[in-house]
Amino acid sequence: MKKKQCDFCGRSDKEARLLISGIGGVNICEHCVEQAYQIIQEAGIIGGANGKKSEYTPKGSVPKPVEIKAYLDQYIIGQDEAKRFLSVAVYNHYKRLQQPKADDDGVEIEKSNIIMVGSTGTGKTLMARTIARLLDVPFTIVDATVLTEAGYVGEDVESILSRLLQVANYDVSAAERGIVFIDEIDKIARKSDNPSITRDVSGEGVQQGLLKLLEGTMVNVPPKGGRKHPDQDYIHVDTRNILFICGGAFDGIERKIAQRMNTHTVGYNSVQNVRKIDKDDLMRYVQPQDLKSFGLIPEIIGRLPVLTYLNPLDRDALRKILVEPKNSIVKQYIKLFKMDGIELTFDEEALDFIVDKAVEFKLGARGLRSIVEGVMTDAMFEVPSADVKKFNVTREYVEQQLAKSHSL
Ligand code: ADP
Repeated sequence: MKKKQCDFCGRSDKEARLLISGIGGVNICEHCVEQAYQIIQEAGIIGGANGKKSEYTPKGSVPKPVEIKAYLDQYIIGQDEAKRFLSVAVYNHYKRLQQPKADDDGVEIEKSNIIMVGSTGTGKTLMARTIARLLDVPFTIVDATVLTEAGYVGEDVESILSRLLQVANYDVSAAERGIVFIDEIDKIARKSDNPSITRDVSGEGVQQGLLKLLEGTMVNVPPKGGRKHPDQDYIHVDTRNILFICGGAFDGIERKIAQRMNTHTVGYNSVQNVRKIDKDDLMRYVQPQDLKSFGLIPEIIGRLPVLTYLNPLDRDALRKILVEPKNSIVKQYIKLFKMDGIELTFDEEALDFIVDKAVEFKLGARGLRSIVEGVMTDAMFEVPSADVKKFNVTREYVEQQLAKSHSL
């Protein structure tokens, strides 16, 4: 009888601890299985620690800025300037990832993390989320307000990477190409523009911690997002290629912008001009130094080279948001009803009225959803059991439903 051995490396059954048999009497030893595993992992066919197939196989080509913006246009109304900035930054980021490791011309493209300034509900998160979907990379949102300096109650900055690893299914190389959206970055601003002598737990310390991640460094991440423990095996994550997008409302930054513009414009005429500028419009003049006046440390600002703003949403924009985006609120409800075989329609006046209410409540686009939900609850409860094939929402119906839910 043939001596049992590994048919890949020739190790005998004495040398190998385990021989796995296949069809036709062939065998493979544990060493070869391990090597084969590494080969397919390197080829990007399977993922990280848990050996699941990676959902994030790199795409051949990255969409061009114009294509990225066109994609964003399908989901996000207005905010043209921010879309253009973001498209270019993301495109450059991925070009950078594709540059060969040992480029001989000595030119290394630096990372361009992004900061978006704009009041709440203007689409900052939506923008980051939509980009991540297009690129099919791991994406996570973290709230800067929960972060604290290491050792204090709250989450260390490393927790950001634990989350990214989680969504990447612990595929480290996928996580290292991911996108992190840090929301409410303005909330970790230090309270005054002067560097503090005593450490400011809530603000500056967190900014310092964040700085390391933004710069690009090797971070030891506790595997399951828990707190650090000396005996734990850490996962090493290199943040050099992770794209960080920060967002914040920066309430009151207009004042800083106005102050700067006042002091920098000389002469009677220019001061007059500044006064004429609409307060809502000041945001478009935002400069890195305004973020510094607001309390971000210069090092952080330096690591967020792409600065852009989002406009407050006016009535017109809200009206469009209701119906136009690919997954607009109205389209979502139509789909819900369609699943029950019912054709849902809205009168134009009904939609106008919903928008009026959203403007009145001053909740921006966030308000639209809760208003529509309030209007549709009864219908969603009753219609599936009723014998109807159509349901039309009129202005009267909206008024009546809102009055019932005491929103009017
Ligand atoms: P932010 O992060 O700026 O506070 P979000 O991106 O979370 O705001 O927006 C909240 C919701 O409002 C989104 O889920 C989206 O439905 C809607 N929305 C906000 N801005 C826009 C926009 N410009 N276009 C389409 N929808 C928007």
